[in-house]
Amino acid sequence: MSTELLFRDDAYRSTASARVVAVHDRGIELDATIFYPQGGGQVGDTGVLLRENGERIDIADTRKGDAPDSILHVPAAATRQPDVGETLSLEIDWARRHKLMRLHTALHVMSCVVVAPVTGGNIAPDKARLDFDIDMSLLDAERIERETNALIARAVPTETVWITDEELDARPELVKTMSVQPPRGSGRVRLLRIAGIDLQPCGGTHVVNIGEIGAIRVLKIRSEGRRNRRVEIALADS
Ligand SMILES: [Zn+2]
Repeated sequence: MSTELLFRDDAYRSTASARVVAVHDRGIELDATIFYPQGGGQVGDTGVLLRENGERIDIADTRKGDAPDSILHVPAAATRQPDVGETLSLEIDWARRHKLMRLHTALHVMSCVVVAPVTGGNIAPDKARLDFDIDMSLLDAERIERETNALIARAVPTETVWITDEELDARPELVKTMSVQPPRGSGRVRLLRIAGIDLQPCGGTHVVNIGEIGAIRVLKIRSEGRRNRRVEIALADS
């Protein structure tokens, strides 16, 4: 059973209603959701599912299910399960998600300041990182912070564009992330475009204008193995 992915068209939607289609040991499946499942380095959303009788089902994590576009809402321990067919009101922890969106979009911008293959990445609410295959001597925290913030200050809108698998195959330079290839097979691939700055495949949640990031600070740069240099950032205001 696939879930309608409401966050894909509107990352700013923080409430919705949906029907329960299955309840598994691993989590609750709905016919539609605003909860982003862990993926592309971004952690899964948390929040609450409200039953019509007012009962709260706290959601501690969101994961992908086995089927394509199936999403599992993982209840907190000792929470009651809903019934199949029941309609629930969905609310994500918006303050947490908005930080994830700002940090995620900041990584897109930073990946244009550090020009090197990306070997990994992670986005949590308090900090985010990218790993690069690059020589340590080429990484200067002060320069990365200054140049990333200068790009953010341009306040350029972000936009989602879709291309076919064939178009992506013809433009391999779009794929910066060696460890995470964009999903194939559905015939089309979602890209995030930041005009004049970045264009790359991404299924994550982003802010509509990079100005909304505010500014970032580089927390640290360290070596994580022979080919991995990790650059960790946080939002300047958190
Ligand atoms: Zn992205």
